[in-house]
Amino acid sequence: EKKQTINFGAGPAKLPQSVLCQAQKEFIDYNGIGISVLEMSHRSSDFSKIMNTTENLLRELLSIPDNYKVMFLQGGGSGQFSAVPLNLIGLKQDMCADYLVTGTWSSKAAKEAEKYGTVNVVHPKLESYTKIPDSSSWSLTAGASYVYYCYNETVHGVEYNFTPDTHGAVLVSDMSSNFLSRPVDVSKFGLIFAGAQKNVGCAGVTVVIVRDDLIGHALKDCPVVLDYKVQADNNSLYNTPPCFSIYIMCLVLNWIKNNGGVEAMETLSKKKSSLIYDIINSSNGFYTCPVDIACRSRMNLPFRVGKKDGDEALEKKFLDGASKLGMISLQGHRSVGGIRVSLYNAVTVEDTMVLANYMTDFLKENQ
Ligand code: PMP
Repeated sequence: EKKQTINFGAGPAKLPQSVLCQAQKEFIDYNGIGISVLEMSHRSSDFSKIMNTTENLLRELLSIPDNYKVMFLQGGGSGQFSAVPLNLIGLKQDMCADYLVTGTWSSKAAKEAEKYGTVNVVHPKLESYTKIPDSSSWSLTAGASYVYYCYNETVHGVEYNFTPDTHGAVLVSDMSSNFLSRPVDVSKFGLIFAGAQKNVGCAGVTVVIVRDDLIGHALKDCPVVLDYKVQADNNSLYNTPPCFSIYIMCLVLNWIKNNGGVEAMETLSKKKSSLIYDIINSSNGFYTCPVDIACRSRMNLPFRVGKKDGDEALEKKFLDGASKLGMISLQGHRSVGGIRVSLYNAVTVEDTMVLANYMTDFLKENQ
């Protein structure tokens, strides 16, 4: 008998089993029309139905107001690191933007934006990406076109537990790694984007939710496929969209809806992440998480084993033992080392219990 595999990877990540089964069932003959979604024209009525259903589900799950456009684009989260400044930095004449830099991904976004204007990091530079600087230390720039932050830093396991107050400035958020894991008030944002390959599907499609009045301000040299006005005017069909990835997202959104929506995802994410953090916190330093308690991520949980900076031999033993039990992709990002557990929506409480029990046993045997 094949043993169960539990994927704790940071992305591409686990998908709900029922979604994979449905995709398999429909793979060769979608809905009785005799061809696969892979073979379908993106301008056919069958594919239009998939696109419309996907958008409507997303609007419903996040209560997206009518004055926001929803787009399904290519280029990944990294494509949006460029698209955001290309489309928004010209909103005000100073051509500058405010960035909160709290980890690898917001740092990369800020670096990309520097190509197109002035980037101000609004807080004192962090020595390590383990906390969110207190908002009393931020100095926002008066003429900034927007304020940018990464809601959940996937590599460092740092997640905001509040929405930054920008005093009226346009707020932009990278939600790639905690998208649809809790409700958000979309009306507080100018723009939200998220790559699908963590919480809402497979790689290839990036969701962009943008307020109407922010569309149509792209720089002259903005590549046409990254121009929000072009994509919005063409309902994301200016060129061929990532059809199959959109279809998979549609199935995942349906699954989220049928499982209680984003409120239920939030409840589950708290339960799952608490299981692991509780073990870390009560391990007397055998497991250590460097991140401030106030901003520990529910999605990506980094920790070290054995001692504060990690006992690499023991960490290897931890990973090997986990792998023998079917638990894979637990190694930390190559830039930080240690262990990282990703608990996206599709990872179940039962999956998490298997890991929690293993961590408890490993502690007993190795402390
Ligand atoms: N933002 C965040 C928060 C991410 O975790 C990632 C990828 N892990 C990216 C952006 C970049 O996404 P992509 O690989 O799709 O360009």
